[in-house]
Amino acid sequence: MDNAAFSALSLHSGLLKNLETLGYQKMTPIQAQSLPSILNNKDVIAQAKTGSGKTAAFALGLLNKLNVKQFRVQSLVLCPTRELADQVAKEVRRLARAIHNIKVLTLCGGMPFGPQIGSLEHGAHIIVGTPGRVEEHLRKGTLRLGDLTTLVLDEADRMLDMGFQPSLDAIVGQLPHKRQTLLFSATYPDQIQTISKRIMNDPVMVHVASTHDKSTIQQHFFKVNSDKERMTALQLLLQKYQPESSVVFCNTKREAQEIADELSSLGFSALALHGDLEQRDRDQTLVRFSNKSASVLVATDVAARGLDIEALDAVINYQLARDTEVHVHRIGRTGRAGSKGIACSLYTEKEAYKVALLEDYLDQLIVGEPLPPMQLLEKPIFSPSMETLQIDGGKKQKVRPGDILGALTSKGDSEGSENSISGSDVGKINIFDRSAYVAVKSDVCKLALKKLSQGKLKGRNFRARLIRS
Ligand code: AMP
Repeated sequence: MDNAAFSALSLHSGLLKNLETLGYQKMTPIQAQSLPSILNNKDVIAQAKTGSGKTAAFALGLLNKLNVKQFRVQSLVLCPTRELADQVAKEVRRLARAIHNIKVLTLCGGMPFGPQIGSLEHGAHIIVGTPGRVEEHLRKGTLRLGDLTTLVLDEADRMLDMGFQPSLDAIVGQLPHKRQTLLFSATYPDQIQTISKRIMNDPVMVHVASTHDKSTIQQHFFKVNSDKERMTALQLLLQKYQPESSVVFCNTKREAQEIADELSSLGFSALALHGDLEQRDRDQTLVRFSNKSASVLVATDVAARGLDIEALDAVINYQLARDTEVHVHRIGRTGRAGSKGIACSLYTEKEAYKVALLEDYLDQLIVGEPLPPMQLLEKPIFSPSMETLQIDGGKKQKVRPGDILGALTSKGDSEGSENSISGSDVGKINIFDRSAYVAVKSDVCKLALKKLSQGKLKGRNFRARLIRS
């Protein structure tokens, strides 16, 4: 029997059938290693990162033991960011399609509190949320977890990095002792060991080697003479590769902001992503980066977590990561699913010891390469193919993606073909509570703006504007 087949597991038939319709033919390595223990109700620590299929590993575990008739919160999944919580909730709902009347609720910070209380009053089986907000609901008595059977900590290392330890402790203090605890983490620092000893019971450890091998990620290392030279090196690399989507990793929030500002002032389409951004700015940054109207995202490790951008063309380490595992995790964001990715790392003499550690870890010799030729600095700076338009109407105004697409591509009576926009000119559409964003190809941007401002959505006029730095 194929031991990577889901049918080898004791999963309910509805869940199994649904997996087939989702096209999940085989378990991923992390699923194959962790699911037998998870389904056996054991505590599990799994070292796994985004893209490994970790969400389905724990989601199948909690769905398989859920009792739908008991309308109480039975599982709690804690995530470091709202984006990750939203993705997890989406995956749980997809996997739960075969189970009728199941209620999955997200409780995240940065969202209005009142509606969450309302949803909680209606009841839920599974809560996916961020620690601060879940703690707040527990404190206010709007959430009760006395019937909980499974606790999942997703990206536990990031939650600890982000300072969620006190919230986690407060939450765990309110849970039944007899429960299953599953902990997923990309790295395994001491802090994780400490917390797992405190809150887990005889956990099974699962570790899957990185799915990336040397052939799918080309790593390049460049030695620079000073911190100042890093900026020049970064420009050269960006101009050489001209990646459509790239992430530049920095070690501090301040630096991330400064580098993004400097790149923008040079004419690059660059945005910063770090923990000091307001939720709205963060949302907007992620929208613009993922819809390809901004090409460079300058990010800290913490902020880049939960970034669900598939197949980055390049990752550039402005500085080497603090430790080797973080480095491997950073570069793992490029060249996903077998596609080729480029990873460039800049280092100074001071960081040479980190290069030596990486050599040990990767078991390969690292040779610094010469930087691309300086003439590249004179070339016109590349720009993204898309632009983002923001519309002042969102879910609250019942604006749907189809309305926006319709308004953009509809043909007025007197309009010729020069005044039309085709579906292929329209990129991602993101709808928030009170606003929406749509990406359009740069050459139809003006026309798109006109159509949106003059046309009607849901029979109403909404203001629309072009978003640029
Ligand atoms: P994750 O690591 O949980 O973020 O999952 C990465 C992606 O892989 C998600 O889009 C899942 O829907 C998908 N996925 C998870 N498990 C499988 C599987 N066994 N077969 C195919 N796709 C999967």
